[in-house]
Amino acid sequence: MFARTLFDPEHDAWRAEVAAFLSAEITPHHDAWVAARKTPRAAWAQAGAAGLLARALPPAYGGAGRDFRDSAIIIEELARHRVHGLFTCLQSDIVAPFILRLGTEAQKMRLLPGIAQGEVLAALALTEPQGGSALSTMTTTARSSGDSLVLNGCKTHISNGSVADVVIVAAKSERGSIGDQPGLSLILVETERPGVHQEAIEKTGMAALDTGQITLTDCVVPRSNVLGGEGMGFVYLMSFLGVERLVLAIYAQACSERLLQDLIRDCDARHTPNGSVLDHQNPRFSLAELYSDCAVNRSFIDQCIPLVQEGRFDPKQACIAKLRTTATLKKLAALGVQLRGAGGISGETGARASQDLLDASVQSIWGGTSEILLDLIGRSMASGL
Ligand SMILES: Cc1cc2nc3c(=O)[nH]c(=O)nc-3n(C[C@H](O)[C@H](O)[C@H](O)COP(=O)(O)OP(=O)(O)OC[C@H]3O[C@@H](n4cnc5c(N)ncnc54)[C@H](O)[C@@H]3O)c2cc1C
Repeated sequence: MFARTLFDPEHDAWRAEVAAFLSAEITPHHDAWVAARKTPRAAWAQAGAAGLLARALPPAYGGAGRDFRDSAIIIEELARHRVHGLFTCLQSDIVAPFILRLGTEAQKMRLLPGIAQGEVLAALALTEPQGGSALSTMTTTARSSGDSLVLNGCKTHISNGSVADVVIVAAKSERGSIGDQPGLSLILVETERPGVHQEAIEKTGMAALDTGQITLTDCVVPRSNVLGGEGMGFVYLMSFLGVERLVLAIYAQACSERLLQDLIRDCDARHTPNGSVLDHQNPRFSLAELYSDCAVNRSFIDQCIPLVQEGRFDPKQACIAKLRTTATLKKLAALGVQLRGAGGISGETGARASQDLLDASVQSIWGGTSEILLDLIGRSMASGL
């Protein structure tokens, strides 16, 4: 693989700090969190105190004012340390940017410092039970009632959904409609409000990361809780989902690199009567193919990261990055079970390999399934390479 050139010594020092924090404070507990299907809330505050949350937020809002490369380092180190329960990028790089870029000064001052400290847990709620792939069929509504909006609907499979204190809810609204198509608004909903019900969803992949269902029944919020312009939600989502997909691609790529390294080591160490597993052509070729995919994906991702900082990042690049990295990860995770033989499904190594396969399966679903990404890429092809 090419030597990485996008980080400077300050970034390297930050990576060492993040790695030390994860090794000392998080990794020793993470398997227990996976077994319990729960990450303690206190871990978020620990991450906040260590500066892992909202790294890119300006200091006035509790952040460190650093660039996206610092965030990329955190995401990579989470993957390298096999951590998903404390998915800090959800809070820092997926939810906080909506508030930072669209919020009023009052909204920012009210929410961002708590998000940066890990005292306020936040979520982004788009998906509904009838299907997450078709955002346009969303049925959650925000009805006008004087200076308030009345929300009704259900959001499902929301990361941090059962534990979040504040949720950005996408809902159809009267304002912003075009013809008979209603507008979509992004609305901050504090979960302590009457009419909000949160429930955890049990799942097998990424088990330590909370995933919840949020039901809104005649939930009244002040109109001042709308983020940005009322009815402008689709436009905002199209711009913000690109960075979300890149974040997920960075995580998938770093997961792939960890899986690949571990698998090559184990195949080299495992002796069959006529050589190590790696001495056989078929396993060696399978690994070589995925090694090559990883190398090409790494170059693509490293081209994307600085573009976010420069504001030149194209959502199509995000679709390609997430599509490719998650496809490679899934192939590697399946090979990780196969090439370890019975050891891929038994004992400590087998438990890890099987869990890696389940965790990898999540990654080609969340943030837009691979099928939807292909559709988006396919539709944009006519505009050229
Ligand atoms: C662990 C986890 C965390 C998540 N976190 C969040 C979150 O924080 N916020 C949030 O809003 N959502 C979240 N999601 C939801 C996620 O975004 C959706 O699961 C995803 O968008 C797919 O929606 P769906 O599950 O309803 O599948 P469906 O939309 O029902 O799709 C089912 C299958 O049909 C395919 N399909 C559907 N439509 C088409 C089409 N037009 N063309 C081709 N194939 C199609 C899909 O690709 C998929 O394979 C999370 C999901 C998971 C698993």
